[in-house]
Amino acid sequence: MTSISVLSVVSEIYPLIKTGGLADVAGSLPAFLKPEGIAITSLVPGYRAVLSKIGDAVPIHVFPDLFGGPARLLRAQVGPLDLLVIDAPHLYDRPGTPYLDPEGENWPDNAIRFAALSAVGAAIGLGEVAAYCPDVVHAHDWQAGLTPAYLHYRGNGRTRAATIMTIHNLAFQGQYPPDLLPVLGLPPEAMAVNGVEYYGGIGYLKAGLQFADRITTVSPKYAEEICTLEGGMGLGSLLRDRIGDLQGILNGIDESVWDPSEDKLIAAKFDRLHIKPRRINKLSLQRRVGLREDTDVLLMGLISRLTWQKGIDILLDALPLILGTGAQVAIIGQGERAMERAVGDAVTAYPGRVGCVIGYDEELGHLLQAGADALLLPSRFEPCGLTQLYALRYGCVPVVARVGGLSDTVIDANEMARAEGIGTGIQFHPPTVEMLESAALRVAALWKKPALWRRIQRNGMRTDVSWRRSARLYAELYRELTGAQRAVEPEALRA
Ligand code: ADP
Repeated sequence: MTSISVLSVVSEIYPLIKTGGLADVAGSLPAFLKPEGIAITSLVPGYRAVLSKIGDAVPIHVFPDLFGGPARLLRAQVGPLDLLVIDAPHLYDRPGTPYLDPEGENWPDNAIRFAALSAVGAAIGLGEVAAYCPDVVHAHDWQAGLTPAYLHYRGNGRTRAATIMTIHNLAFQGQYPPDLLPVLGLPPEAMAVNGVEYYGGIGYLKAGLQFADRITTVSPKYAEEICTLEGGMGLGSLLRDRIGDLQGILNGIDESVWDPSEDKLIAAKFDRLHIKPRRINKLSLQRRVGLREDTDVLLMGLISRLTWQKGIDILLDALPLILGTGAQVAIIGQGERAMERAVGDAVTAYPGRVGCVIGYDEELGHLLQAGADALLLPSRFEPCGLTQLYALRYGCVPVVARVGGLSDTVIDANEMARAEGIGTGIQFHPPTVEMLESAALRVAALWKKPALWRRIQRNGMRTDVSWRRSARLYAELYRELTGAQRAVEPEALRA
């Protein structure tokens, strides 16, 4: 089979560094593409957390001056992941998260830090790094958005890799002042509508969408939504113009990391045929988040960034009615300070019935999926969403706003779906307090019918949330872009 090499340019990757779903996707997709003959190498910034985990890395290239300091390109392997790491201490050797300082503020030089990621991605795509020359450069989100633009402006007619820009969340666009243009090393003519210009400034994601050969996003429904005025968030008309190059490919999950029958991060393992041990996880979760320990009470959970997008305010406003059904609510998350405080206030107002952990805790994330009866996702928009996929796999019934990827991945357990034996959760629309309340009433009614509830859980646990199907779609896209032929159906993926 023809092998295609793809450079994935990305600002976070699990298990090295993670702030959200992007890291999960970047970290899990490569293994599923390997059997398809696609070799992914991921280019990531050398944050402290990354450098501390890559062990014996081999320097393969030096950039004498990468935006104000020297940088080395290190080749490393972590588990199944092939990595190229940009070791540039002046840009990445700091405390905090990839994007924020320890006080929670954006690093003031983020425009430069991620331009550097993109510039290195482009240099590799132009064949300037002798040791590695990919067929395709695949840029993820605004942090890698300048990659296709650099390839365009620095290419000067040279042969270059084909490019893909993937939108994981259109709400984050990377918009910076116009006077940065020369600092970024982009020519004056780039400051144009058909260049990197965006509402008078420089748009990183806009640049990627403008210059990439193809555009993908993480669910078919979100691909539709981002072409509308509201969902387009300023980029709708560009996306409509490029609709022929735009494709929605659903995210999958790494079933070896998220497997309730093998999961070492939960209190008791279980599977579709032995769901009972979930009770032990439920008690453990109740203890961890400060809820009254009682397996007979319906426990609804939420794990998320605490932001407007995720509809946390909608949930908080719906709490009186939700708790009125007798249910408990567990919230795990961090984000906007005001929202964190509001969650804390709810815990104070409803002791033992609303519990929370403010912070980022991967282990608790697993326990919540294994112990909560239902997962609440009142998102105002959701490009794909991963937590509902984990919930399906863990028998935690997802209760989701019918937007984006939530709409594509959860089947509402209405009467018709139940008759067909296919309902996997509850959907509501639009994402408002009233609709969440009525969804919560439906959940409470279903919960009172244990046999029915069990069937919905099992339907969910049977759902294919793996990368198998989507990995094929990415592989087809890479092949199409490179003109490669698929010679043999890979054994591992034959259905
Ligand atoms: P987004 O990328 O928009 O934040 P996703 O649903 O795509 O949302 O992915 C979120 C990922 O981050 C999931 O793996 C989820 O379990 C994890 N996550 C979110 N908040 C927390 C938290 N406070 N602690 C642990 N994991 C979290």
